Amino acid sequence: MRSPPGAGSADARHRPRASSADAPGAAASGAPAMTAAEQTSLRDESLSWAAQHGLLVATEGAPGGATMPAVFTHAPVSLLPTPFPRGAFELAKEVSPFFAELSDLVSRDHAFLETTLSGVLETDAFTKRLWDVYIACGAQAGRHRCEVGVLRADYMLDAPSGAPLQVEVNTVSTSFMALSTRVAQMHRHNVSYFANLQEKYIDDASVEASNDDDFGEVVLERVLPRNDALASAAATLAAGHAAAGDKNAFILMVVQPGETNVFDQRLLAQTLFEEHGVSVTRATLAEIADEASVDDSTSDGFVSFRGVKHSLVYFRAGYAPSDYPSEKEWHARLLLEQSGAVKSPSAAMQLAGTKKIQQALAAPGALERFAPRFAGPLTEQSIAERCAKMRLVFAGLYALDDKDASHAVSLALADPGGFVLKPQREGGGNNLYGEEMVAVLRTHDPSAPRGARGDLSAYILMQRIFPPTNQTLCLRKGEMVQLETLSELGIYGGYVRVGEAVTKNAHGGHLLRTKAATSDEGGVAAGFAVLDSVVLEG
Ligand code: ADP
Ligand code: MG
Repeated sequence: MRSPPGAGSADARHRPRASSADAPGAAASGAPAMTAAEQTSLRDESLSWAAQHGLLVATEGAPGGATMPAVFTHAPVSLLPTPFPRGAFELAKEVSPFFAELSDLVSRDHAFLETTLSGVLETDAFTKRLWDVYIACGAQAGRHRCEVGVLRADYMLDAPSGAPLQVEVNTVSTSFMALSTRVAQMHRHNVSYFANLQEKYIDDASVEASNDDDFGEVVLERVLPRNDALASAAATLAAGHAAAGDKNAFILMVVQPGETNVFDQRLLAQTLFEEHGVSVTRATLAEIADEASVDDSTSDGFVSFRGVKHSLVYFRAGYAPSDYPSEKEWHARLLLEQSGAVKSPSAAMQLAGTKKIQQALAAPGALERFAPRFAGPLTEQSIAERCAKMRLVFAGLYALDDKDASHAVSLALADPGGFVLKPQREGGGNNLYGEEMVAVLRTHDPSAPRGARGDLSAYILMQRIFPPTNQTLCLRKGEMVQLETLSELGIYGGYVRVGEAVTKNAHGGHLLRTKAATSDEGGVAAGFAVLDSVVLEG
């Protein structure tokens, strides 16, 4: 194999070795077999890299939005990238912008939102409060002419078919754009730094296609695709800020008190400042309730907070009931929604990202309702092709609020391991599996009034996806463990609509989250998973 750049006199054979390519009993897909000493070198190099590049989380969150926690550790990470099939990665990338635009089209279709969410609105108090904010601000008529989305569609590989099946589309508070960028960089570093990891990860075809000078650019790029999630998210928010029309105004980043994923957010804020000259204020909903007002000194109606004008509100909080412990936080949400600032996302866009909407979009005819409204020019054939591509990633999704609910319930009771029961919640740890799911499904009573025991309108039922497993070296709180794992791919999108014109709808980088194969849920922040990156195969 060719030498990596910079190897020069420092011959690759003399560089540190983290794995032994010819070690007996090389591990299954994922982590190569390594001696304990090699694993320790890899751990130490990774820990050091993480500290040096901001791949960090706070160990204890600060109580206020702007207060900076001073005790931190590395983010939970895998030490090496995880194999993912190239075709599935490309398909997920290709369809994700279609889903971004679909989410916005749904958010603009009041009748569809109202009809689809009707059962949920009667049974789920949180979704109802969000709906009330949307209505109180004038529904569609009250919306800002710009919608700015930093979205993420999540996929798991369906082992039997090899297809990437969509777990969900997130329209609010997507996270890890910065840390996923850093993890991909750290994995590239590890693979280039340890000479024999290079041998393991860089295939001969890629090496043949390169020359010494472009080793880093071409060879690594083919197998370890660059991840520009951080730059993309900043560019999307900057475009929204520009569309708001006041270059001196700030962005208001709404954050949770006690946030530990603070570096992910601050790296984004710093990139906004350094690359786009836009300043960011961090504030909690409670702080906003106490100290923000709608600035009525101009017709813009921007948000005035601590004497500074903010033209775009970017939500990294506000997606869960726990973000609204009192009426105060709802008051803040209403104030922001009523203001003339651009919202990322609007309440309508957040509602369009609920699981009930996802289920309804997979029903026959639903895509066809929206496809003709996609930004064109589109022919009938190209619309049909786009719908067909989108359907490739739909898992089985079942309503529990219609005449077919009893059939769906009996399917799941006959095969509980094959289904997941989902309430209208975000943030991980809310879905029901196995016995817990069965206990709820057994209460189903098709004649139960809305909201009564036996009415399951607040839930949807989903086919359980079974991804292939890998062996992964995980690092959490400094401790290294090799686990049998499953991975979930997130594809970010940057979406900006100004009036009727979609001015941006672009791929926005990716995220791989990897969790123990024995764990049902996959949240990194919720403590179930590690941040990871892909090594493309095929
Ligand atoms: P949340 O909005 O809370 O993130 P998700 O629908 O993304 O809810 O589910 C949380 C986690 O549960 C996912 O990250 C994934 O690990 C797991 N999960 C969700 N749906 C499925 C499914 N259909 N099959 C297998 N695992 C799933
Ligand atoms: Mg999720």
